[in-house]
Amino acid sequence: MIRRSLLVAVLASALLTPLGAYAQTALPKVKLFTTGGTIQSKGAHRQKLMEYSDGRVTPQELLDDLPELKDLAEISTMEVANVGSGNIAAEQLLTLAREINAWLARPEATGAVVTHGTATLEETAYFLNLTVHSQKPVVMVGAMRPFTAVSRDGPMNLYNAVRVAVAPQSRGMGVLIMLNDEINAARDTTKTNTYRVETFVARDLGPLGFADSDRIAYYRRPLYRHTYRSEFNVDQLSTLPRVDVAYTYQEADGAAIDAFVTAGAKGIVLTGGGGDAVKAAQNKGVLIVNSDRKGAGRVVESEKVAASGRITSDNLPPHKARILLRLALTKTQDPKQIQRMFNEY
Ligand code: ASP
Repeated sequence: MIRRSLLVAVLASALLTPLGAYAQTALPKVKLFTTGGTIQSKGAHRQKLMEYSDGRVTPQELLDDLPELKDLAEISTMEVANVGSGNIAAEQLLTLAREINAWLARPEATGAVVTHGTATLEETAYFLNLTVHSQKPVVMVGAMRPFTAVSRDGPMNLYNAVRVAVAPQSRGMGVLIMLNDEINAARDTTKTNTYRVETFVARDLGPLGFADSDRIAYYRRPLYRHTYRSEFNVDQLSTLPRVDVAYTYQEADGAAIDAFVTAGAKGIVLTGGGGDAVKAAQNKGVLIVNSDRKGAGRVVESEKVAASGRITSDNLPPHKARILLRLALTKTQDPKQIQRMFNEY
């Protein structure tokens, strides 16, 4: 009898121990890179939905706030910044690219999640889409309501971002943007609403998929070159060339373009015409990209524009054309080569 119960105990522990150990070690490993923004911002009270400037939570506070993440992944953290996204600059972009590349190159790494203010989230997302060299998922996440707000959207967005980062279907999709249950492509997506939670929209193309409660559901893949198929490498760079955007409106003259050239711009993205100031800038070696202010649709290539040495931005909005032109200028000054890049990325 005793022997029998001993046998049962030995068998049970033989069966249970490896399973228990497996359950622990099998959790995928995700690194959370934090940069700040509304998702980390605190307001003076729970109804404070604007001007919430009572400090920001740390990466650890984000994790402690969401114990459910422990069931999804083993999460490590790295604070790259804790700022509003208007303060993200080349230094933080280059650090993010380098640190995410280093993390994803580790065999045990499954994916990366990046918290970011929504105001410029899509710029960082597109930059990483061009400079992270891995098929492993990189998911950008933010929130429209601060950490302290009633009915805040941050925790669900972060929970879904980790779900997307550990989903095998997310591999090779390029950098993803995760808010409001929607999975969007970094290249195609723009913040379209100043205040509502349904703000990130890929106007021409729609979302890639959804983080639904039953599963991560994808419906299409981005086709333009990104991440593991990108030719851009920022490993050795400590800065990026200056590129500015000149907005077009009735009676806009060349004053902004002249000022950008004086400030040292190596490239200027236009949202429309530009007149003599553009020619003067080109004569000084400044590269010009034609984008558009409408927020959707392609700027179609024309022989006339190409003959004038300008580049067209495909359907990249001006602020994303700026990112690609900055990276292009780290490799070449040749407008034909840069036009090829705009057609491929
Ligand atoms: N309102 C912005 C946000 O949603 C602030 C920022 O971009 O940092 O995070």
